[in-house]
Amino acid sequence: MKIFISATLRSFFNREHEIDVKGKTVGELLENIIKEYPDSKNAFYDETGERRGFIKLFVDGEDRTGRDYAVYSLSEKSKVLLLPVIAGGAPSLAQTEALVSDERRKEVELDNTEIERFNKHLLLREIGVKGQKRIKAAKVVVVGAGALGSAVIQYLAAAGVGTIKVIDSSAVALEDLQSQVLHSLRDVKRPKSASARDSIRNINRSIEVIAENEDISADNASELIEDFDLVVDCSDNFKTRYTLNDACILNGIPVVFGAIYQFEGQVSILGHNGGPCLRCVYPSPPPAGLVPSCAEGGTISPLAGIVGSIQANEALKLIMGIGEHLSGKLLTVDTLYLNSSVLNVKRSCNCPLCGDTPTITEVETYDYEDFCGLKAKEDEVPVEGFTPEELAKKIDAGEPLKIIDVREPHERAILRFPGAVVIPIGQLVRRQKELDPNIDTVFLCKQGKRSILAINTLREAGYTGPMYNLKGGLDAMKDIVLANEGGWL
Ligand SMILES: [Zn+2]
Repeated sequence: MKIFISATLRSFFNREHEIDVKGKTVGELLENIIKEYPDSKNAFYDETGERRGFIKLFVDGEDRTGRDYAVYSLSEKSKVLLLPVIAGGAPSLAQTEALVSDERRKEVELDNTEIERFNKHLLLREIGVKGQKRIKAAKVVVVGAGALGSAVIQYLAAAGVGTIKVIDSSAVALEDLQSQVLHSLRDVKRPKSASARDSIRNINRSIEVIAENEDISADNASELIEDFDLVVDCSDNFKTRYTLNDACILNGIPVVFGAIYQFEGQVSILGHNGGPCLRCVYPSPPPAGLVPSCAEGGTISPLAGIVGSIQANEALKLIMGIGEHLSGKLLTVDTLYLNSSVLNVKRSCNCPLCGDTPTITEVETYDYEDFCGLKAKEDEVPVEGFTPEELAKKIDAGEPLKIIDVREPHERAILRFPGAVVIPIGQLVRRQKELDPNIDTVFLCKQGKRSILAINTLREAGYTGPMYNLKGGLDAMKDIVLANEGGWL
């Protein structure tokens, strides 16, 4: 049967987006997949043989990752989908309860300019004056003013959301302008939160905007979202997503989750009316470095607009209590092959946060590596590394060195490291014979994180030669490499 492989996992499957593997049950299918694609074992199981929590297996739109998943039987016609979490209630045909109550709606008025401005909303039977007043009374937090945030913030502002808080601690970079349409050339190097505030004011001066140039952490998360109706998660890293999820669930604030990677997107509503939270759907994020982040993996420009617009649409429906929404569902969109599915996801009674016996009762501080069980154990030797300058010196001095580039082929097309041996991370264990344990081996990737995972993976596989990480990856060494390209060949 055909199995669809999400882009984040394709490096384990010879870059194929669809594979053909047989199996009468899910257990048999997984066995056969690993037989045909040995590299995929590392994606499914950790070093102790435990199944990893960040991959879901859906059969005909239903999650089959539960306890008895292995014996679930399959037919030739079953539609199977492997879906990881990306760095992102019961459906009811009847009117769902609006996030903004009637009392709050009655407190706001629309003036003549607003009646003109929102004319096209007022014409819709489902929205009308009542709906528009709810939108005006709504208070929404948008976490992340990057690619997804650009679409979300602009549409929420245009739709007339009365109070918008934007949280982002980064500054606009030139490369952001490819997909972050909220910012323009003159905003480069400015804080994204300030640039977002200006854009919102350009759309509608009467919106109350709060710009927070901060990172979400266990210390400030609850305070930052306090008194808001809804949070839209447009962040780009797992640490923020899980901290935000925990804070929102503990404070009873629903989250519109959105995530993008390359050509794919996911949208869901978490923590709403007894629906699942992020930890119910994906108990843990992938180990740091196992799948590249958005910054490392790239995305096509309009993807964030598509996914962010769906998030904004879901946010408005929740505020007004109209239509069906994505609580208890996960929408996946693949814009390269034009596939989309709505998958059912359920609250897990074993969820450490919103399950029957929760173990997380306050927003906890954790670092991502620790959270993923990848933090160096007591007896584990930390990974040593060279700075770009140190590595350049060693190459110039002609020291015996082997340099291994663990990036994916399309990333190397942007910038090659002269003389490096190319071994994508999924093939390392199988190809460790190509390494020479008698000389220093330096591992490099884009940002210096996947290369640490590469070193730890080889250590676990029993390789004992001296291994070093290029600190900061090729991003940090770009200028030196370009200056020496001819000389190092
Ligand atoms: Zn949960």
